[in-house]
Amino acid sequence: MFDNLSLKLDKAFQTLKGQGRITEINVATTVKEIRKALIDADVNYKVAKEVTDDIREKAMGQNVLTSISPGQLLTKITNDELTHLMGGESVDITIEGNPAIILIAGLQGSGKTTFSGKLASYLKKQGRQVLLTACDIYRPAAIKQLQVLGEQIGVEVYAEPENKDAVKIAKAAIAHAKKNNHRIVIVDTAGRLAVDEEMMNEIARLKEALAPSETLFVVDSMTGQDAVNTAKAFNDRLNFDGVVLTKLDGDTRGGAALSIRRVVEKPIKFISMGEKMEALDRFYPDRMASRILGMGDVVTLVEKAQQAFDEDEAKRLNAKLRKNQFDFNDFLTQLEQVKKMGNIKDLMSMIPGVGKAMKGVDVDDNAFKPVEAIIRSMTTKERENPDVINGSRKERIAKGSGTSIQQVNQLLKQFGDMRKMMKTMNKMGGGKRALSALN
Ligand code: GDP
Repeated sequence: MFDNLSLKLDKAFQTLKGQGRITEINVATTVKEIRKALIDADVNYKVAKEVTDDIREKAMGQNVLTSISPGQLLTKITNDELTHLMGGESVDITIEGNPAIILIAGLQGSGKTTFSGKLASYLKKQGRQVLLTACDIYRPAAIKQLQVLGEQIGVEVYAEPENKDAVKIAKAAIAHAKKNNHRIVIVDTAGRLAVDEEMMNEIARLKEALAPSETLFVVDSMTGQDAVNTAKAFNDRLNFDGVVLTKLDGDTRGGAALSIRRVVEKPIKFISMGEKMEALDRFYPDRMASRILGMGDVVTLVEKAQQAFDEDEAKRLNAKLRKNQFDFNDFLTQLEQVKKMGNIKDLMSMIPGVGKAMKGVDVDDNAFKPVEAIIRSMTTKERENPDVINGSRKERIAKGSGTSIQQVNQLLKQFGDMRKMMKTMNKMGGGKRALSALN
């Protein structure tokens, strides 16, 4: 995400490297590069100009402290400006009414149905009773898709495949929700390939009839400038409350994320970065800005870790590590929890400094597959005590996991090394400290 933009911005700041102070000339050169980088990333020209004019003005008004370089100062100012451009504060969705109604609008293929499922799963995790409603009356496949997602996340889906009146279906869903104690009804609507009058009328009718506490407009960030134009068309008609940017995991230039807020004056509320149901994040302008600038996003990383990791389980593993009893069963548990956190490259890019170093590096999410397969091919006894794994056992494990004896050996060696290291650390009394620092 934003790889190109980040690289170009980094290059822009490089022009200030070695410069001891801010001057009109060096700021002008850097600001020009920043503007070019933003426009290349598909940021609307007018927006890019406004932002860079602000950056220049702020930079010129500041005296550089001896402790920071002009490059660092400009990075900080750009970070603040990008945060401001994307709305400054994070804005939550409004859940009000009994049931609260959330209306989902957007073009066909934007990721509406996928997002509806993700949002339901997100709200369910917060302990809320959610009902999904399929109001795409034109595509029976869309109803089926929502039903499949509902089943996957354990959320009921209300549908009337024969009914061709979206308002009636939605009203029946609300009545159903009231009767069955669902507190939130998410209404997935029909989209079209392009903005058209009939679609707009239908969604506007739904909005009027249902009076949702939140209307979200879903847009594919890969569509660049078009995303901004579509947002404008929907907003003119629907006056929606927030934007959901999807497919930010793809090869997007990111401009949509940066211009939508300024152009339609509505906050981005969620970003979606993948097809998995967990790939949904609340949108925080400041975190996104620091990710774009390669400064990492430790806050999101920590939150993801907190969501994925079970605290009691962490304590149990901690104790085992300290006693040097950490075995392959524990290793497998850890691996599963890391996988739950999402795409490995995205996770790594949230670590400050790592994002930049990882540019262009292909991190294979499947890298852990052989490791997992090897452990799964071990018996319980072998997992608990890897020392019993002799030659013939290795052969069996390699065969069972579809790997080679070398791969099995390698994993055993790494595991042995880790245990040795833990033993030394524990002996030195540092283990406890090092581990508590990790918590
Ligand atoms: P709808 O027509 O607006 O309901 O769109 P869908 O939810 O059916 O999504 C269209 C396609 O985009 C599907 O193949 C989804 O799996 C895919 N999709 C949705 N969100 C994302 C995302 O955040 N990232 C990626 N890579 N694909 C997505």
